[in-house]
Amino acid sequence: MACKNLKELLQRFDNEIGISGYEVDGTIIPAIKEEMEGYYDEYFEDNMHNQIFVKKGKGDKKVLLASHMDELGFIVTFVEEDGMVRFAPIGLHDDRGCIDQKLCIHTKKGPVYGVTGSKPDHILTEEEKKSVLPIPTLFIDIGASSRQEANDMGVLTGCLVSWTTKGEYLNGTNTYSGKSVDNRAGCAIMVEVMRRLHDEGVDNVTFYGVGTVQEELLCRGAAAVGHRIQPDIALSLDVTLAFGPDVEEKQVPMKFGGGACVKMFDFAYELCVGTPVPTEITEKMMEVAEEKNIHYQREVLIGGTTDSHAIQISGDGVKAGAISLPSRYIHTAIGTVHLQDLQDSVDLIVEYVKTL
Ligand SMILES: [Zn+2]
Repeated sequence: MACKNLKELLQRFDNEIGISGYEVDGTIIPAIKEEMEGYYDEYFEDNMHNQIFVKKGKGDKKVLLASHMDELGFIVTFVEEDGMVRFAPIGLHDDRGCIDQKLCIHTKKGPVYGVTGSKPDHILTEEEKKSVLPIPTLFIDIGASSRQEANDMGVLTGCLVSWTTKGEYLNGTNTYSGKSVDNRAGCAIMVEVMRRLHDEGVDNVTFYGVGTVQEELLCRGAAAVGHRIQPDIALSLDVTLAFGPDVEEKQVPMKFGGGACVKMFDFAYELCVGTPVPTEITEKMMEVAEEKNIHYQREVLIGGTTDSHAIQISGDGVKAGAISLPSRYIHTAIGTVHLQDLQDSVDLIVEYVKTL
């Protein structure tokens, strides 16, 4: 059943599955298609399974809004003779969050649940107590006592593994915590923007609402989308860092619940990729936000990037910016976002599109 509003969309999408590179084997794509029903004129899927929804407009201008659908996950690398399952990360995980978790292994025979255990605290050396266990040293205990038993359950090398956190609004607040708010929050915004443009009859541009694949594997899906559509303006949607109890504002100036973040620049120096956003996009967006009284923040993110970087350098080059959502505990099984930031993002994008 279709979700009524942004609040429901976030919760639904967060609880769907779509591991980077294997989105089509999960449940997120049919969920987005269902929620988009009735709000687009054309739909197509490319060879990578990017989902492209087109809302035709009167003008020649093409505007693209991209939200990555994929989430971090793992893949089974090996089943030990004693039935323990070794696994590797898909995407950039925080090793600290990977022990003492319940995980789901997706097999041909159905879901197999297991736990990531480690050596008991009682017998750790002082040195071990201070160190973080890297994912390759971890194992998933599925209750099997032999490789054969694990194989019989369907667990084989190459099976995908996902978090099992059930996402929820914390104690009825507007703070939502879940396994894949990065970037199902963006997907919820993308769908809501399409719905609003439809309902408000905004038709000055042809609008492409796109669910991209493989963002967590260095924005691979967005590159293909940018090349194919070659929009006049592109925006991507994603989470960004937020300051908080353990993160200083001078290091990360984006505020949780402080409004939509208008990206000005981001860069992941160790990867040497990033997004210098054209000022004609940022200035206009901030002007619109001021005029319409929409909460917004200026975003400079050092240490990460998103789809807009790949779109910028696709084809003949594209003018691309981004709207980000401040998130706590990013790239863990309990990422959080604030519903008001989602709402501000929807409002800002809709009002900005009207001016193009
Ligand atoms: Zn993301």
